Amino acid sequence: MKTLIFRLSKILGLFYLARKLTADKTRILCYHGISVDDEHKFRPGLFMQKSTFARRMQLLKKWKFTSINLDDYVAQREQGQVQKDSLIITIDDGWQAILDGMWPEIKACQFQATLYLSSYFIQHRRPVFKVAVFYLFWKHNRPFKPAQDSCLEEYRAQELDAAKLLEVVKQLGSDYEQPVLKELCAYFGESIEAWQQSGKFMFLSPQQVSELHKQGLAIELHTHKHRFSEVGLEEARQELERNHQAIVEMTGKQPKHFCYPRGEFREEQLKVLSDMGIQSATTTDNELCSIKHHTYKLPRIMDNDNISELEFEAEISGFMTLLRGLGRRGQS
Ligand SMILES: [Zn+2]
Repeated sequence: MKTLIFRLSKILGLFYLARKLTADKTRILCYHGISVDDEHKFRPGLFMQKSTFARRMQLLKKWKFTSINLDDYVAQREQGQVQKDSLIITIDDGWQAILDGMWPEIKACQFQATLYLSSYFIQHRRPVFKVAVFYLFWKHNRPFKPAQDSCLEEYRAQELDAAKLLEVVKQLGSDYEQPVLKELCAYFGESIEAWQQSGKFMFLSPQQVSELHKQGLAIELHTHKHRFSEVGLEEARQELERNHQAIVEMTGKQPKHFCYPRGEFREEQLKVLSDMGIQSATTTDNELCSIKHHTYKLPRIMDNDNISELEFEAEISGFMTLLRGLGRRGQS
């Protein structure tokens, strides 16, 4: 049904009209990682197929959007007007596979892009525990029974699901994460070594971050351990400061833009951002960005491997923005 409505709307010229009507809004796009194997089937919003991403970039080029970076955007906002048809490409977290799966496509289209980097997994290179655990349970679809020599002494021969296992490891402490992941991989017949080789669930290395920065990818803030809204003010500040320091060490450049982990924040935390001189912050509110949005609450278009090209066009053209606006007006 949705496809039919989109198809008709496009044929009737409504996408074209929407694009004209929303030309003064900025398209800030949000991406995460690239699928090395089958991760796009597991979390299509977190891992996109390389082919999907390449096609998205080609479409944005074809549709003649102007790629700008966040520094340009902030400067233009301060002048009171952002250039029409502007596009900002953002990538969250720092997954390793963006190196071959995203960056060459961005460069080929001569686009600019920003990587919001969480620094902990750049410094401690190993598969990201929580995501890897959920993936293994998703893929193998059965509980985990720790062996008789398991490091989870109290749980030997008990059946654990993903939620229970994560809770147990949280209580035991992060030192247990890698030994448990090794046991879990062995139990399900997967190889951590193969993951490390292919970059599955891995973050970039510090050298790769430096190299990407040299090639023109802007490296900005995403906290050190991907924690913000769930911690107190002082801890939030420390998360940003550690992240800031790590980025300066890798790039030699002061980061000035921030993306809230999971898009979440508390209103009182905005002061931490202004105290640190942060110039912009993006959320995960799916919407086109207008100059009226608070500079610390910039919405983004959340792209996803499950979104069809027609849906992507409906969103990027501004057609969905107009529909949502009508919906809101209808409710009030
Ligand atoms: Zn993130």
